[in-house]
Amino acid sequence: MKKQIAILGSTGSIGTQALEVIRSNPEYFTVEVISAQNNYTQLIRQALEFRPNAVVIGNKKHYPHIKKDLSTSGIKVFAGEDALSQVVEFDNIDLVLTAMVGFSGLKPTLNAIKHKKQIALANKETLVVAGDLITKLAVENNVTIYPVDSEHSAIFQCIEGEYGNPIECVYLTASGGPFRGKNKKYLQDATKEAALKHPNWNMGNKITVDSASLMNKGLEVIEAKWLFSLKPSQIKVIVHPQSIIHSIVQFEDGSMKAQMGLPDMKIPLQYALTHPARLKSGFPRFNFADYPALTFEQPDTKTFRNLKLAYMALEKEGNMPCTLNAANEIAVYAFLNDKINFLQISDVIEYCMETANFIMKPTLNDYFETDRKVRYKAAEFIEKMTGS
Ligand code: MN
Repeated sequence: MKKQIAILGSTGSIGTQALEVIRSNPEYFTVEVISAQNNYTQLIRQALEFRPNAVVIGNKKHYPHIKKDLSTSGIKVFAGEDALSQVVEFDNIDLVLTAMVGFSGLKPTLNAIKHKKQIALANKETLVVAGDLITKLAVENNVTIYPVDSEHSAIFQCIEGEYGNPIECVYLTASGGPFRGKNKKYLQDATKEAALKHPNWNMGNKITVDSASLMNKGLEVIEAKWLFSLKPSQIKVIVHPQSIIHSIVQFEDGSMKAQMGLPDMKIPLQYALTHPARLKSGFPRFNFADYPALTFEQPDTKTFRNLKLAYMALEKEGNMPCTLNAANEIAVYAFLNDKINFLQISDVIEYCMETANFIMKPTLNDYFETDRKVRYKAAEFIEKMTGS
C-alpha cells in the first residue's frame, strides 16, 4: 500500500524537497493534494507531473488560470483559505505535510488532526501559537505528529527505542546564522541581503531572517516543549556553526545521544514520511575529512534578544507565544521591506509582548483574535517608530 500524501505549501523550500523525495520513491508514495499560496505556475507544473487528486491555490485571483491549464487533466482545482482547510479531510489522505509559512498553517493543521490524518509538521509556527490545543487534539484523535524540523527530528530519532526513559534535557543546536559573532553596531546597519545569506541551510526568506535573529531557535524551543512535553528549563540551546549535529538528548544517567549528518532537509523530511522505516537514499554522505572540528559555543542573547524573548513567552505561557509569533511575522516582513532595521525586529516584539492583552487559558478563538490584534499593534508601532 502506497502512503497517500497531501502537501500544504508544495512550492516552498520544504514542499519542493518533499516532492523530490516522493519522485525518488514512487513505489512508496502517491501525491493526493498539493497547495500553494501564490506560485501558480509552479503549482501547475507540479500537478502535471505528480497527478494529484486535487490542487488548492490560496490566492483566489489565480484560480481561473489554473482551472484553464488543468482543464483536461481531471485534477480538481480549489481556491481560498477555506478550501485549504477542507481539502485535508479527503478520505484517501494518510498523511498531511504542513509546509506553509507562519500562522496560516493553524486552521488546516487542526482540521487534518480532527480527521485523523497523520501529520508531518514543518510549519513550526502552528505549534508555537497553539501547541496546547494541537497536542491535545492529536492525543484525542490518535494522531502522531512527525517533526520535519531537523532539530526536532534529531530528538525524535534519539528517543527511538528508549521505551519511555525520561529525558533529562535536550540541546537544540543552532548554526548561529549569518550574523554569528556580530555586535549590535554591525546589526544596526545589516542589510536584508546579508540576513538572507545563511551559511549552511537554503530556506525560505521568513525562516532565514528568523535564523539570523535567533528567533528561529526561539520558536524551536517552544516547538520542542510541545512535541516532547518538556519544561522550559529542560530545553537548552547551543551554537554549533557546522550544523552537523542536529540536536542532542541527555538522559537521566548522564548519557547523551546526538543525531548527525550533513545539513540536508531531505533527511528529516523523508524520515517523517517513512517512520519507522528508513529508506535507502542517494543524499550526499558526511565526510570526516571535510570537518576536522565540530565546535560549540553559548548563544549571545544580549545581542540577539529574540531568543530571550522566546524563552520569556514560553515561561509566561497562555497566549504569549502567539503574541511573540504575530509580532515577529510583522517585524520580519517590515525588515524585508526595508521599513525597519534588523535590531528593531526585537523592539517590535518586545513592545507587543509588554502591551498586548494577556490570556492565561486561551480558546482557539482567542488565538485568532490575539494574532489579528497583535499584527495590527505591531504594524501601528512600526509606523510610529519610522514616522511613515
Ligand atoms: Mn530547524
